[in-house]
Order: sequence, then structure tokens, then C-alpha cells
Amino acid sequence: MRLIKPTPRGLYVEPGDFYIDPWLPVERAVLTHAHADHTYRGSKNYLVSKEGELLFRTRLDDEGNIETIPYGKSTTINGVKVSLHPAGHVLGSAQVRVEYKGEVWVASGDYKLTPDPTCAAFEPVKCHAFITEATFGLPIYRWTKPEILFEEVNEWWRGNVEKEKATVIFAYSLGKAQRIMKSVDASIGKIYTHGAVEKLTKDYREMGVELPETKYVGEVENKKDFAGSLVIAPPSAQDTPWTRRFGAQSTGFASGWMRIRGARRRRAVDRGIILSDHADLDELMTAINATEAEQIWVTHGSIETLVKYLKSIGKDARPLETKFVGDAPESEIEAEKETIQQDGQD
Ligand SMILES: [Zn+2]
Ligand SMILES: [Zn+2]
Repeated sequence: MRLIKPTPRGLYVEPGDFYIDPWLPVERAVLTHAHADHTYRGSKNYLVSKEGELLFRTRLDDEGNIETIPYGKSTTINGVKVSLHPAGHVLGSAQVRVEYKGEVWVASGDYKLTPDPTCAAFEPVKCHAFITEATFGLPIYRWTKPEILFEEVNEWWRGNVEKEKATVIFAYSLGKAQRIMKSVDASIGKIYTHGAVEKLTKDYREMGVELPETKYVGEVENKKDFAGSLVIAPPSAQDTPWTRRFGAQSTGFASGWMRIRGARRRRAVDRGIILSDHADLDELMTAINATEAEQIWVTHGSIETLVKYLKSIGKDARPLETKFVGDAPESEIEAEKETIQQDGQD
């Protein structure tokens, strides 16, 4: 039985008559996480994780009927048992487990296994069929341990302090930005935020994630304060007049895509910070094996390559084709741009 199927509106659980992360309005949606390319407005009813509630409410602008459920607890939708389990991607991110007539399917959403101090760790869930993302499902993607990565970021920041330059990091405003402020050595200098980052950071704090002190850029009166500080801004702020206020600055872009030299060049920043909130190939394999699933459905990213690889090691793997192309570097940035415009923040 195909418990979860791709449709033009998104992944559909037919017996339960609900969708997972639909990109068009539906009657009933279950959401994996609050990134703009997974949480779309316009549906009537939403089921989201309790752990990410405020983020979902911010992204949905509190529209629609938003119900929450804590990780691990289950509910029934039209006879289908549904529960959410930590995906380790961003605060409140979840894998969706659905069970019907003894058949268990899990849709992973976006996930990672690398430790992240701002969200619950990925929890493997046993199932018959596992739908996995494959954003970075290629052997060239192997993430550096966060301790090592952030030691490099700290060194770069310290160097900029000596040169009285601001350190400006472009990173997605939900998840990546908070992970950076939580992981850097906040004793090096002050941390300033773009409006879009500050708004979500406030949600993180309200949801109980402890973060170092940050200040919204718009509240700074003396531009000299930016010298030696760390500024965290969304990618859409790059190359806009907004960045001029920081004066002398060294810029960095935090993304898994920074692994590719072409992407670094296109981004035209001083530093590529290879920081991803997705699984690398090793993590994908660890997660897939831990589910003990008989069937692996691959979506979101390097679909063909991962399917081929899984087949070569004897797994029953198939592509799950959706209209949605996944987190291509530009599509995520576009999605975030839209959200920021909606939010009217600078
Ligand atoms: Zn995501
Ligand atoms: Zn995604």
C-alpha cells in the first residue's frame, strides 16, 4: 500500500485525507518544519509540533486553525495514527510517522544528524517505508565537525576585531542564524541581527532556547558600534544598501552549498562557511539504516544519485518525484526573500 503519495499539492496521505507540507491550500496539513519552503499559508487546518509552535505561528501569520502535538505523542486523523518525531533540522522540526492497518510510513522532512545546540536531536523511527530527503546526497558533501568549524569562525571574527572591521555572516534567518549565535564565542564581541533574524530569534528565546544577547541593527545609533561586532543577516540582505551601515567589513555566507567553489564565487563573499542544516551522505545512510525500512523513497535534492547508490548496496530505493525541486540554493533564498518581504522587516 502506498500510504504517502506525491500529488500536485504535496505529499498526500490518502486514507487520512491530509497532506504533509503542501505548497497549495488544502483542508488539512501536517507540517514538518517552519522553513518558508515547507510552511505555506492558505490551508484550513494545520497540525504542527508543540516544540516549534511559535515559529509556525510566525510563518503562518497565525492564519488557519493551528493545532500542536508534542514529539512522540500520537493523534488520529480519519483513522490514520499520526505522530511527530525530532528531525534535528531546526527548532520544532519533525519527521511525520503515519500508521494505517499495521503499515508504518515515515516522511523525514529535512533532517540532519550533526549535533545542533538549538534543537532536539534526530530520532530514528522504525518503519516499513521511509521517505528521505537527499539535498546533499552526494559523496562530495561531508560536513566538518561543528567544534572545528566554529573555531575557524571565531578565529576569523577575532582577526576582524583587530582590524576594526565588522564580521557579517549571511545565513537563513530560521535555524542557521540561531545556531551560529549559539555556537560562536560570544565573548569576542557584540552580536547584531537583521530584523528578520531578530524576530525569529525572539521566538527561539520564548520557546526556551538560551541564546547570547543580540541587538537589532535598526536600534543602533552610533555606526561605530559595528566595528568588531558580528552581524547576522539573511542571504537576501547581501549586496543591498542595508549592509553599508557597517562600514569596513568582512563577509561570510553560511551554507552547505559553500562546499562548491562555484557557489562561493557566485555569492562573492570573503568566507564560505560550510554549515548545513541537512544531512551529508554519511548521515543520510546512518538515518536510513536506523529506520530498518524495507522501502526507501527519495525526494528533495540529489534524488537519482541517491537512489542509484542505495540500489547498488541492495536497498529497495525509488524516486519520489514531486513538483517541488527541493532546497536548491536559489530556491531557498527566494522563498526566504518572499517571507521577509511579507514580514516587512529590513
Ligand atoms: Zn528546511
Ligand atoms: Zn526543505
